[in-house]
Parts: sequence; C-alpha cells; structure tokens
Amino acid sequence: MVNTKLKMKQKPLIIPIFIPQEGCRHRCVYCDQSTISGVSQPSWSPNKIREHVQGYLGCQHRHPVQLAFYGGSFTILPESRQRLLLESVQEFLQQGQIHSLRLSTRPDGIEDNNLRFLQTMGVETIELGAQSLNDRVLRASARGHSSKDTDEATRRLKKHGFEVGLQLMPGLPGDSRETFLRTVEKSIVLEPNFVRIYPTVVLSSTPLEHLFRSGRYKPLSLEQAVDWCKASKKRFDKASIPVIRMGLQPTTTLEKPGRIVAGPYHPAFGQLVNSSIWYEKISPALRKASLKSPRLEIHGPAKQLAEIRGHRNSNINGWLKELKLTSLETVASDQIEAGEFRVLAHRV
Ligand code: SF4
Repeated sequence: MVNTKLKMKQKPLIIPIFIPQEGCRHRCVYCDQSTISGVSQPSWSPNKIREHVQGYLGCQHRHPVQLAFYGGSFTILPESRQRLLLESVQEFLQQGQIHSLRLSTRPDGIEDNNLRFLQTMGVETIELGAQSLNDRVLRASARGHSSKDTDEATRRLKKHGFEVGLQLMPGLPGDSRETFLRTVEKSIVLEPNFVRIYPTVVLSSTPLEHLFRSGRYKPLSLEQAVDWCKASKKRFDKASIPVIRMGLQPTTTLEKPGRIVAGPYHPAFGQLVNSSIWYEKISPALRKASLKSPRLEIHGPAKQLAEIRGHRNSNINGWLKELKLTSLETVASDQIEAGEFRVLAHRV
C-alpha cells in the first residue's frame, strides 16, 4: 500500500519518459501528443531508457525519485511492450536509485490482472486522462470512453492501493463553465490524490483545428480559462486535493510558430490562475488598510511573493490603481505560513 500522505508532502524528482500516443487506438479531437510532449518518435529501447535515467540521476540529487511514462496509454500497450519498458528500469528500483514508477493511461484501459502486474513492477502512481466527466463532452471530443469508465477505473485503482491522478481539460467541444464545474464536483467525489488541469488549446493538424476553422468550435479565451480554472482550483483546495499543474508545459516544439492555432495557451498559465486567487484573497485587507494609509506592505512566504505580485506585477499595478496607493511593497517573511499573508500600513 502506498503512503500517499508522505508522498504528497515530499515532492518527488520526476524522470519523464514520453511515449507519445503509444498504445493509442483513438483520435481524440484535440490530440497531438508529439507536439504536447515535444517528442516526435516513440523509439525507446532498453538501452536508451537506461542512458536517459543515468543522465538524470547524474545531475539531480533530489529524493524520492519517480520515473514516469507519460503521453501514451500505457496499460493498453501490448503486454510485451509494457514488460520491456518496465523491465528496463528494474535495476534502478532494486538499487534504490529510483523509488517508484508512474504512468498515464486511459480510463477504459484498467484491468485487474494488469494492475497486479504493474504493482509487481514498482508502479505506484497512475494518471487517468479523464478530461471531462460529462458524456456529451466526451462524445463530442471523440474520447471513446464514458464518465462511468473514469468512475470505475478510479475506484479500482484505489482499491488496489495506487496513487491516482486525474487529468481534466476544460473547454472541450460542448463544454461550458457549468458543465466543467460539475466535472470538478464529480472528480472531488472520486477522491483522487491529485489533479492536473489543461485548458483545451487548438493544435495544428488535429480534428479540432478543422472544427475551429469551420466555425464549429470556439476555444475559451485566456480570461475565461483563468476564470474556470480559478473556480476549480478553489474547489479542489477546499477538498484538500492538490492541483499539481495548470496549463500545458511550455516546450520549444509546442511554441514553434503555427503549432498552436488558437486557444488559451500561456507559458505561465498556472501563475495567472494562482495570482488571480491571491488578488481576490488579499483585496479586502488592502482595501481596509488603504483607509489608514496610501503606503502599504504585503508580507508573505518568500516562495509565494511572485504569485502575490502577479504576472509582470499585474496584481501590484491593479491594486495601486484601484486603491489609489502611492506605494505597495511585498516583503518575504518566514513567520508566515504558505497560503497566508499580512498587510501592514505605513504611518502617514
Ligand atoms: S489523448 Fe490519449 S487517447 Fe486520445 S488520441 Fe491522444 S494519446 Fe490517444
């Protein structure tokens, strides 16, 4: 059984191995895994995997270490391929250089026999590409599975003692703010150990590009995506479910001109959402303090000051203007716990 509490406290070093679209027998409307992952060829051999792992271990010294097979539908790969990939890393597990394995897959690719096999090979964490828990949205996105599959897969994985992550995609065809927030509520009921939220973007040469160009799909604006994700992040926070990523990882492949056709992509998307939450949270205290002085300070944990200030100081500038302040500084304090803050007013 995995000690999930301990695992979530100690953020592992993840060694990623992208196997884009390996095992995939679908064509979800939005998908171009090669572009998303920045990897073009699924050409992992045991030797290449070992070299890749040794390269990471040689220059990183964080603990614990988890190796992750991302980007494919691992559990529906032929058994021989699953075995070959997993056996390539067993020596690192046995020597204690890697502590566990993680993989991503589809909700309809979870079978008991396979789960037992994965456990014997050291897999502890499985991420499910749930994307939505609304069947109309799943059909419109050609996912080829239902919300019931995610429900059953999550329960089965938890019963076997796996740590479970759910990946969600707001803004898929047929989605709305209300539908997405219902997906969030249903996800909370499933009690995943963590979630990732990737607002839908239109990538070139995907069926979604065709839908977009023919006027049958309208992507979210950046503002809408931040608003939806902010509402969902607050709900997950309240339910104590960590949101470990919001927005696609920026890569040179993804950011090549022409790859992203439309949609709410931003290289610092997570920061936009978190900063927006801070803005809402700190504003009442600043408003009150601004009645005493136009010169204010916000004290917070050093690691969170960038989010408090906002992307390119957007929060600071917003407050200066809105509250007609003459100065607003942020000050690092090791006395203040993560997620907390204090506002101080200078004497006038
Ligand atoms: S999102 Fe996953 S299941 Fe869908 S086409 Fe891409 S790799 Fe296949």
